[in-house]
Amino acid sequence: MNAVNEVSVKAHVLGFPRIGAQRELKFALEKFWRGEIGEGELAQVGQTLRRRHWQWQAEAGLDFVTVGDFAWYDQILNAAALLGALPARFGFDAKRLSLPQYFELARGNTEQFAMEMTKYFDTNYHYLVPEISSQTTFDGGVEWFFHEIEDAITQGHAVKAVLPGPLTFLWLSKSKQDGYSRLDLLPSIVAAYTRVLDKLSALGVGYVQLDEPILALTLPAEWVNAFEPTYRTLADQGVKILLATYFDSVAEHAQLLADLPIAALHLDGVRAPEQLDIFAAIWPANKTLSLGVIDGRNIWAADLTKVLGSLKPWHAKLGAQLWIAPSCSLLHTPVDLEQETKEEQLDVELKSWLAFAKQKLAELNILKQALNGKDVQAELDKNQDAHHARRTSKRIHNSAVAARLAALAPTADQRWADFATRQAAQRARFNLPILPTTTIGSFPQTKEIRAARAAFKKGEITAEQYETAMKAEIALVVQKQEDLGIDVPVHGEAERNDMVEYFGEQLAGFAFTQFGWVQSYGSRCVKPPVLFGDVSRPNPMTVAWSSYAQSLTQKPMKGMLTGPVTILQWSFVRDDQPRSLTCEQIALAIRDEVVDLEEAGIGIIQIDEPAFREGLPLKQRDWAQYLAWAGRAFRLSASGVANGTQIHTHMCYSEFNDILPAIAAMDADVITIETSRSDMDLLEAFAGKNGSAFIYPNEIGPGVYDIHSPRVPQVNEMLRLIAKALEVVPAERLWINPDCGLKTRGWPETEAALANMLKATKEARAAI
Ligand code: GLN
Ligand code: ZN
Repeated sequence: MNAVNEVSVKAHVLGFPRIGAQRELKFALEKFWRGEIGEGELAQVGQTLRRRHWQWQAEAGLDFVTVGDFAWYDQILNAAALLGALPARFGFDAKRLSLPQYFELARGNTEQFAMEMTKYFDTNYHYLVPEISSQTTFDGGVEWFFHEIEDAITQGHAVKAVLPGPLTFLWLSKSKQDGYSRLDLLPSIVAAYTRVLDKLSALGVGYVQLDEPILALTLPAEWVNAFEPTYRTLADQGVKILLATYFDSVAEHAQLLADLPIAALHLDGVRAPEQLDIFAAIWPANKTLSLGVIDGRNIWAADLTKVLGSLKPWHAKLGAQLWIAPSCSLLHTPVDLEQETKEEQLDVELKSWLAFAKQKLAELNILKQALNGKDVQAELDKNQDAHHARRTSKRIHNSAVAARLAALAPTADQRWADFATRQAAQRARFNLPILPTTTIGSFPQTKEIRAARAAFKKGEITAEQYETAMKAEIALVVQKQEDLGIDVPVHGEAERNDMVEYFGEQLAGFAFTQFGWVQSYGSRCVKPPVLFGDVSRPNPMTVAWSSYAQSLTQKPMKGMLTGPVTILQWSFVRDDQPRSLTCEQIALAIRDEVVDLEEAGIGIIQIDEPAFREGLPLKQRDWAQYLAWAGRAFRLSASGVANGTQIHTHMCYSEFNDILPAIAAMDADVITIETSRSDMDLLEAFAGKNGSAFIYPNEIGPGVYDIHSPRVPQVNEMLRLIAKALEVVPAERLWINPDCGLKTRGWPETEAALANMLKATKEARAAI
């Protein structure tokens, strides 16, 4: 190593997307699950992806490749399998865990339901919730992690290993035992990490990155206090620790973090730039600080000159102790912008404003070189030009949108009458039976549907042919619901590729990528639209499909829309104006659609907001502000209709306890939520149990079966859940429905499950 290198700033990433630029991992996993390829072939795909991503990191001049960000399904499940903390109910031996057993944990099997899945902090990534109890031993498990590290070393890379930190792992876990604190397991989990770090040290790994994003939450004191003793123990293991925080400020823990016996700390300088001043005042000049200066959650090209300016004082102070990185793992961004070659989708100008994961590596490289005294002026100039063009572009401002917002009446977000009045009007209009049945919207997206959509997109079939195919599908779905006896049918959403993309494609202000996929859970990916400019709705988006569906049945057809908060949350959103303002623009566009549906005779309209809770800021002190603007945006979208029009909303995976008043304030006539996987526990919050005096005032449909697995729920299982729901919700306010949409399911299990759901409903009605 020469002298220049020794004082140079280091660059690294906290993690890289594992799914593959062409979603290679997804397709291999699904083939494996269908039995089309064996374990050997799947392993090969994984290794190829890992090696490719390490290679990219090395080529971009990063000082380490990051190993441990790969997982066959989820990195938290991987950590549980490594530590040996598997749910006891499966009866698996963690040390001998096979790949098929690993997938059974994630996806369920004939005897056991899958591990619970929930969103990782405020992202749209879902992790599997470790199930722990006082019996959990952390005796060690699979060695996959170490094999990956050996492989990276064999490939000639300098390795930084990454794992969830022990406190974050425990925090994300769930214990169903009463009176039992997860922290009781701290000594045994720390012992397990100690053994892991020993092994890393023996393998010659220099740094291990332990992710502790819980530090950005409003954390109870006993958890904060656990950091010092935990990291004092871990620091003795011969491998240097980089403690990584991200997603929000950890300023309130600055002194604690500066005093921890760790080698390095990572801070999120994009989500919480304000914390940097506080750290600047106390950070010891001889201790490494990794600054996350490139947005790991969004796809806009960084303003490199500006970033460089903010890094200069740090560089002067820390010299070689300064590391630079994206704000968080790049897991939350798509892989490679260079694949976007369709100009009609993403033109040259828009493309010049963007950076995906691979491009962010290049941005890091430019910053690193600039700090290390290399001449990168040409790259910096090019980046400046793109930023100037974006700021001044006419494509992002629409004065009509601004004028409409400015002219909004203060009551624009209020329904015409209170819930009781609306409920009476709706009961008179629809005359539904007690415990009305419905579904959440989508029905199986069969190969044929996807093929028709793809063919239409490629121009292989005409618009008429496509319409005919979709109408046939709608007719089929409506007929099946008639046969099953569902009270409020839906059209099935066959025409929708994705619940946000479908709307984004028809709204002004959005652009689309071809390959901008981001992992959501397991093999599932989403392709968030790029929301780059002012939003408006030039034409109706769903009215023709819903009207056609309504024409086929006497029952009230439920129209299906995606809500403004979810569209915002699941898009890559412009960063040049507040999110609240962008959300208001979307809300008005959805409102236009709601009003048009009503006018077309659709009396029940569902505005899905599955992402409402995930938008909640990590720190409680910021909640009220978010809930106020997000709730208002939902109501703005829903309030243009008469009392007799019934507005539904739907949310999934949500923990509601702490935000119930805000959910109630959205004032949907009916809310459907996901509850079956948590055994209706979620419902307690709605019913004023557990000491809460709050009771959800409107109608509610807690899901009675899990739609994430092909397992067909039995009648008595659902009857039990309905009975449990009836303990806390009055029968006249209870709806019966699955947890979520059925688009990922096949028809045979869907029909069997719904038939059982209707049988269970019939029995429950008879017992009332
Ligand atoms: N209406 C959507 C569907 O059924 C809702 C999906 C969701 O909540 N994520 O697919
Ligand atoms: Zn859902």
